[in-house]
Amino acid sequence: MRELSSFEIIGIKYMFDDAGRLVVLKRKKLKKIFVQILIVTVTFFVVRGIIEFTPIKGYLGHFTSNAVIQMYHYKDPSIEVDGIELTYDNVQKELANELANEIEAFEELGIAWFGENDLPQLEVIVTKQGKLPHPILLNRNGLYLPKSNVIVINGELSAEERVHALSHEYAHYYLMNSMSQEMAITDLPDWFHEGVAEAFAHRFAPLPFYEAIGNWDVVPYAEMVMKGPGASERYVMAQFTVEKLLEDHGEQVISKIITQTKEQGSFEEGFMEITKQPLSGYHEWLIPDKEFLKEASAKLEEGYNRKQLEKELNVFEQSKGPYFYEAPSIYYILNTIYVEEENWKAASSTMLKRMNYIRHFPGEWKMLSEYASNMGDTDRAIEYAEHAVALTDSSSVDSFEEWLAELRDREE
Ligand SMILES: [Zn+2]
Repeated sequence: MRELSSFEIIGIKYMFDDAGRLVVLKRKKLKKIFVQILIVTVTFFVVRGIIEFTPIKGYLGHFTSNAVIQMYHYKDPSIEVDGIELTYDNVQKELANELANEIEAFEELGIAWFGENDLPQLEVIVTKQGKLPHPILLNRNGLYLPKSNVIVINGELSAEERVHALSHEYAHYYLMNSMSQEMAITDLPDWFHEGVAEAFAHRFAPLPFYEAIGNWDVVPYAEMVMKGPGASERYVMAQFTVEKLLEDHGEQVISKIITQTKEQGSFEEGFMEITKQPLSGYHEWLIPDKEFLKEASAKLEEGYNRKQLEKELNVFEQSKGPYFYEAPSIYYILNTIYVEEENWKAASSTMLKRMNYIRHFPGEWKMLSEYASNMGDTDRAIEYAEHAVALTDSSSVDSFEEWLAELRDREE
């Protein structure tokens, strides 16, 4: 008998048989690897397909993706909060607890906005870099699978973004389950689904709008596509719209619009019934009034009567929703006027409103801290100064720390 030589490459054993052909000794192992590759590939395309092409909302797609997600997490620990199961990786225990602590407040707001509903069991899965389905989330923060009631959250986000992602998806879950059985998800337009979810999330994690409001190209709601280029702006437009609806018609406006959509037979008619305004022109308040902004800035520069300018700006603010495109400029001008007048309370309130839109730098927090200090509120001044210090880098930290130390000395 010929002596056989065997060798190993990446865990697979090979040898040459009598006829000199290469054969695999550990077939079982190879088969296992092959099956794993197949599972990962199928998972990737099924889940990605559902994420990217939402019209594929069939039961099969949902159950397959749910099954795949479960398969990768069935060994993971989970926390049970108010009937919600929150699954996470062992290393994410602290993060999972932080998220779990938020859920009660989500439920409270959920009832206020959508009413008391019999909700199906919800499962929240926190993902981790390198572990499926994380790579399939691509650049998404979260995902909700309506038919299986599973929320997947990107566990690699910052603490605030994670809360935003979970509350956003939670709002989708609540909204979809508050729709009557005879309604389809698509009976409510995408912008409404997303606007409600964004407004809901903003109450728990108010991420500034600055990243999303670059190219503010307003279109009627019927043309608001929530995907592709410009989608991030349209998410903000949708949120601003929902915020305006909430302000003008109260907390129950969302459930009222849903009910009327069913009763009137279309979203447009349901919307009209509640707001008494046609949806086709409702977007117009979102269109930036660049002329007004230009004039207001010029008036500030030219020393125009302060009381008069303040009045004009307040009237303009009243004509918009609680959040609007021109807001950062409007609040900047108002803030300048109030600082001139040494009206620290109003300066502080306009600065805080402005912070909803702009990237946070230590300078703004320091100014807020100074306003609070001028009002004699040292506790608040310290709180704001701490925010300033937390945002500084090594080159500028000294001046902010000095200010904080000065405030703390005053406290003692
Ligand atoms: Zn969404």
